[in-house]
Amino acid sequence: MSFAIHGLAVARGVAIGRAVLVASSRLDVVHNFIQPDQVKSEIARLNAARDAVIEELQRLLATMPKDAPGELSGVLEVHLLLLQDPSIGADTRRWVVERHYNAEWALTSQLEVLSRQFDQMEDEYLRERKADVEQVVERVLRHLKGAALPVTAAAARREPRQHDLALDDTLDVPLVLVAHDLSPADMLQFKQSVYAGFVTDVGGKTSHTAIVARSMDIPAVVGARSASQLVRQDDWVIIDGDAGVIIVDPSPIILAEYGYKQRQGELERGRLARLKNTPAVTLDGQRIDLLANIEEPGDTAAALAVGAVGVGLFRSEFLFMGRQGKLPGEDEQYAAYRAAVEGMHGLPVTIRTVDVGADKPLDESRHDAAHLNPALGQRAIRWCLAEPAMFLAQLRAILRAAAHGKVQILIPMLAHASEIRQTLELIDKAREQLDQRGQAYGPVKLGAMIEVPAAALSLRLFLRYFDYLSIGTNDLTQYTLAIDRADESVANLYDQLHPAVLRLVADTIAEGARLGKPVAVCGEMAGDPDMTRLLLGLGLRSFSMHPSQILQVKQEVLRADVSKLTDWAQAVLESDEPAALLEG
Ligand code: PEP
Ligand code: MG
Repeated sequence: MSFAIHGLAVARGVAIGRAVLVASSRLDVVHNFIQPDQVKSEIARLNAARDAVIEELQRLLATMPKDAPGELSGVLEVHLLLLQDPSIGADTRRWVVERHYNAEWALTSQLEVLSRQFDQMEDEYLRERKADVEQVVERVLRHLKGAALPVTAAAARREPRQHDLALDDTLDVPLVLVAHDLSPADMLQFKQSVYAGFVTDVGGKTSHTAIVARSMDIPAVVGARSASQLVRQDDWVIIDGDAGVIIVDPSPIILAEYGYKQRQGELERGRLARLKNTPAVTLDGQRIDLLANIEEPGDTAAALAVGAVGVGLFRSEFLFMGRQGKLPGEDEQYAAYRAAVEGMHGLPVTIRTVDVGADKPLDESRHDAAHLNPALGQRAIRWCLAEPAMFLAQLRAILRAAAHGKVQILIPMLAHASEIRQTLELIDKAREQLDQRGQAYGPVKLGAMIEVPAAALSLRLFLRYFDYLSIGTNDLTQYTLAIDRADESVANLYDQLHPAVLRLVADTIAEGARLGKPVAVCGEMAGDPDMTRLLLGLGLRSFSMHPSQILQVKQEVLRADVSKLTDWAQAVLESDEPAALLEG
């Protein structure tokens, strides 16, 4: 029966497809479509891995010491029985035959199905057998890992189909990912993936997982609470990324309605695409810089494709995440920054120094649950200053990349004069080290992010030391309102239009203008077309956002007359409830 689950809208558009449930612990399993002519060989891989595990277990049983506890051999015998059970064997093969999943994916899909069945069992003893199934699957996966992957696995994303979506379709239908949680690093891994949309149980609108989903430009809903419990493997699901709703098992009428909405969205995108080469100039002649936020050097192609005039935020921390603590060295970073700089063909690239911590852990094993308030802990520049050797390597890499094009350095989370001083000293030191090595480097402009209220209230200090400022409204909102941006349970209070947040944003823009230093906004506010007029009215001339948002914001810019927006923007600023004025 059809039902809806409400969450938070994070990436626009509609996706319709079958659900793929992925447990966080198995996200690293390869998800590939095989070619139809590979079904046989993929099943052979699966069978070979299963047979190898059977052999392994039989060997263990045969060589078990006489004095080993009886339960041990009992467990191994249960595992052997499970391996020969059709619920693991034949049912797993069906995912390969009917859906063309690769062996690992088929196995974990079937595991999700079985886990549900075990969870629903009344009998506690039987419920606990779930662990046995997991262990058996783990063993088979390990064997598969050792075996070669299918040679021509098609990892290409399947485009959502526009027409004739029939509920009995099996092959060639879009897939949507449903997970309890996805880390930003997981999301990055899924960037090249097969999924047409995402749903997660946890996460806020500006959590980094949501941010990466937005950069992938596919419909996504986060904070959908128990979605991963309610949706079953292979259910039909509609993700409405505009409304933040998912509909499970939709009726044909609802399906048709959303199919129509999907087509309208495509038409709108087509229309916006025509604005690519139109300069972003307001009706009264103000030129506005629309820049791109990127996570990887490869994202520069998407930035250029929508006519971005530069990169306003390269979140360099994505180079550092999910590497089990083995951080990228100077040369690896230099290659990545240089690739981004060259990818922009002479347009400026703003590289933000590493901002890990809070909801961007270096990797899962180091997720800092021990610290009660990681967002208030050692993240961003605080971590960099605590690890000067790591920071110096990054600074040298950025300075070297600056020899290949226009580069700006951007420092996150600064609050104290002492932090500013130490940062500038380290930048000088990085230059000295390069001089000593005789290595080439280029000039850089230095900028500070304004994302801690303390910084927004000490603007003169920041403007004295830095060439430009960039307002991180995601964190500025989080820290001004004391609302964890990644926590869906307080998402209703996370309000970028709170008068206090707007006041800090407005003052930063005004103070920059007064002292003749550029100010940009690079938080999600900059990419929200509903905020464009207000930010223009407050004097903002530089907006940095995901490439997927640039054309919509450009459309707002082209329709705006800034000279008529200034008084209105001041009225919004003075209002107790700015949101009401914005809608009016
Ligand atoms: C911000 O805080 O607004 C910002 C742009 O940085 P991040 O979202 O990466 O914390
Ligand atoms: Mg931030």
